[in-house]
Amino acid sequence: MPYFDNNATTPLEPGAQQALINATKENWANPSSPYRSSAQVRAAIQKCRESICSTLEVDPDLLTFTSGATEANNSIFSNLAKYASQSARVLLSPFEHPSVSEAAHFWFSDRVDVLSALPNGTISTDEITEYLKQGNQTALVAVMAASNESGVIQPWREIAQLCKTNGIPYHCDSTQLPGKEDLKDLSICSFQVASAHKFGGPKGVGWLVGEGSSSLVVGGAQEKGRRGGTENYPAISSACSAWKTNVKAAIDVSGLIGLRDKFEEQMNNLFPGIKFIGQEVPRLWNTSLFIMPHHENLKWVGKLDKFGFQVSTGSACSTMKTGGSPIAIALGLSNAETQRLIRVSSFQSHTQNDWHSLAAAFKQASDELDGESTDSSVISL
Ligand code: PMP
Repeated sequence: MPYFDNNATTPLEPGAQQALINATKENWANPSSPYRSSAQVRAAIQKCRESICSTLEVDPDLLTFTSGATEANNSIFSNLAKYASQSARVLLSPFEHPSVSEAAHFWFSDRVDVLSALPNGTISTDEITEYLKQGNQTALVAVMAASNESGVIQPWREIAQLCKTNGIPYHCDSTQLPGKEDLKDLSICSFQVASAHKFGGPKGVGWLVGEGSSSLVVGGAQEKGRRGGTENYPAISSACSAWKTNVKAAIDVSGLIGLRDKFEEQMNNLFPGIKFIGQEVPRLWNTSLFIMPHHENLKWVGKLDKFGFQVSTGSACSTMKTGGSPIAIALGLSNAETQRLIRVSSFQSHTQNDWHSLAAAFKQASDELDGESTDSSVISL
């Protein structure tokens, strides 16, 4: 399994593929229409909602299907801005996905405060406690559960409890958790989101969960008036199938963390001077983010791709941008370091052999890049 970019997207799980085909062929009626075939689709959507919510331990009435996590994250801020006072502020972690940070700035402009980044890729809950003590009018605290870039897991359970105690809404961008970590306690968060293509489902479907939440997409009475637009039942059905296989059927991840750690050990031996981000703190078992000691990341990505291995620079969303990834900015990485940042991310079926082959491919890529380089001297960090 040489595909190592699962934080960007995962391949469609076979059951999810079948569900997508079946629903497209057989259950294509508009769920809002007044006849039996439509009622069947409506009931099937509700069944999917209930199945997902039973894992999340939340009331099915709190879940709104959306086009994915970007829409869900945007909706939290657009919705909040409608009701919050003109002086209310929002507090964000410095590692948020752009669908959180840009939406916050769009709706709250200069009323956005950002927590400090600790060098290990986490934030400090003490800083949130101090912030809340200052008596600002806080409309929301938003700290992602796990970074799509570094895999670092933020202390989201603690933050959820802290916000609850202080009566402040807490949004947890939980997009990277399903299929990787235990979702227990997510129900404490005021808002949580998901995106099916991160856990073996199709693209273009996800959800928003939270009291009084609604999408920014208006213009229809679907989803109890909380999200306009004809429901994408084939995608919902497919997402639901992937959820059952890759999320609900609890996987034992205890052995998987060791595979990634062994890969990092191998990389450390192969490339002295390599720097891993977040190694000292809890991380998703599937993710490794590192700064190579030499050669630009796009050169590595190109070589590895040629050998059949797909890896990423920072996050997929920032690959084509020159401004750097959120984590590179938050950690104050230099331009040279940012250009040597590489992320690899596995999924549930990756084996030790897959990780081992990836390390070997890095070695082969290194030999070729060194040979091609006019100046192959190592840049010190
Ligand atoms: N938040 C996080 C943490 C993500 O990793 C992503 C996807 N990269 C998103 C939000 C956006 O998800 P979607 O692709 O569903 O828009």
